[in-house]
Amino acid sequence: MKLVDQAVSSAVEAHKKRALGSRANRVALLNGLADALDATAAELIAIADSETHLGVPRLTGEVARTGFQLRMFADLVSQGQLDSVLVNPAVAGPPPVGHPALIRDYESLGPVAMFSASNFPFAFSVLGGDTASALAAGCPVVVKGHPGHPKLTERTVEMAQSVVAAQGLHPGVFGLVTGEGVEVGQSLVDHPQIAAVAFTGSVHGGLALWARCNARPRPIPFFGELGSINPIVALEAALEKDSQALAETLAGSITLGCGQFCTSPGIVFLPSGALGDQFAVQLKAALAKASTHAMLHQGIQAQYDKRISQVRAAGVQTLVEPRDGCQAYVAQTNLATFMASKTLQEEVFGSACLLVQVDSADQVCQGLHAVGGSLTVTLWGADSPTNGVDQILRVARQIAGRVLFASVPTGVAVAAGQHHGGPFPSSTMPSTTSVGPDAMMRFLRPVCLQDAPQWVQESLHA
Ligand code: NAP
Repeated sequence: MKLVDQAVSSAVEAHKKRALGSRANRVALLNGLADALDATAAELIAIADSETHLGVPRLTGEVARTGFQLRMFADLVSQGQLDSVLVNPAVAGPPPVGHPALIRDYESLGPVAMFSASNFPFAFSVLGGDTASALAAGCPVVVKGHPGHPKLTERTVEMAQSVVAAQGLHPGVFGLVTGEGVEVGQSLVDHPQIAAVAFTGSVHGGLALWARCNARPRPIPFFGELGSINPIVALEAALEKDSQALAETLAGSITLGCGQFCTSPGIVFLPSGALGDQFAVQLKAALAKASTHAMLHQGIQAQYDKRISQVRAAGVQTLVEPRDGCQAYVAQTNLATFMASKTLQEEVFGSACLLVQVDSADQVCQGLHAVGGSLTVTLWGADSPTNGVDQILRVARQIAGRVLFASVPTGVAVAAGQHHGGPFPSSTMPSTTSVGPDAMMRFLRPVCLQDAPQWVQESLHA
């Protein structure tokens, strides 16, 4: 495909010429992109709102986060904290104690294919976390635009390319490929010179692209963030104290962004009996006052409608039906029905939540294992390790990349302590994060220099 070949060839050229080889260049580019984003924010937000329906307040916050991420990576590169050189002087004597002089440095992987997400038109799209972390690592980026926000993509890329040009960098540092149909994305990941892929989207699409990465003559890493159910475990201690407030907070989280967040809570394990029943009533009442906006695009709406029909047909009791002005759907069932149904154990992308009644910590653990890999697990009321809470925490840690002990999983802080990833299907590389400083390390490869001559050592600090 000519367009793909042109964009990748230019990225290869930029990488060969070490356009992002110096820290100074990377810092200037990341800060320049953040400044340009701020300067064009009002225009970009208006375009994004018309294409995604996400609303100006949410999009304004997302732009702020995107600029923050770009500047965070600029600071990290400038300080050289994460990718600093590790010097291991020679030790005399026989092995294993004795060894030659070793220096561990890093090499950038090369051109990265970055698939924009539909649900984060800024923070996980053209200038989002994947792009910022790849550029910080010194990798040129070829963006596969998402068809859900084509005008925003085009305008953001135009703005980014003008920053690249103004800084006198090779134009291949930042490229775009778009087009109807899956062929564009396929030929991008198939391109022999693409070194890694970053992807946020569906399990189906992610698996197809990951398989292509592995089927190449030279397989490459696929950093995919696919689906996540984000179960919440509501323990009796929490419901005794805060049931009403928790129900209202949960209603807000379910409906936020019309549920189109990778961290939207899809399942709540509730104690069977009076406390759980009361919570279900309170949640229903809170959702009766809630509203949602239109979904991102027709395809996502159709998929949501299809999935809630499947859930309805799986033997659950529906508590909240979508209505005019609010898409929320809530159903309730017991653990046996949940355990027997694959449909109930799969993500419904949108404002849907399933309440699963449980009788013991053992049952919570069974339910969590059935959910499987997830970005988050939230534990409400885990104030002491008694009554099997320690056992629930062990399982939560096994299946999730982030365990919360308060509040709701929507809202992902961009900070060093963050981990946004988890076992499959939440991520295809559970040891990596797509949010926070460590995201940059996905695009760097350690290289050991053994007994390096002086000039090589000096060049490392240049
Ligand atoms: P998607 O259908 O997976 O598309 C994402 C990107 O991947 C698009 O650029 C798409 O290109 C490309 N793509 C998809 N399948 C492909 C294939 N077989 N070969 C090559 N390229 C392929 O995701 P979406 O449109 O954003 O939303 C659909 C569903 O994804 C949602 O209903 C939801 O389940 C899930 N989703 C999850 C997250 C998350 O954070 N985990 C975020 C967003 C969406 P084309 O458009 O050109 O096909």
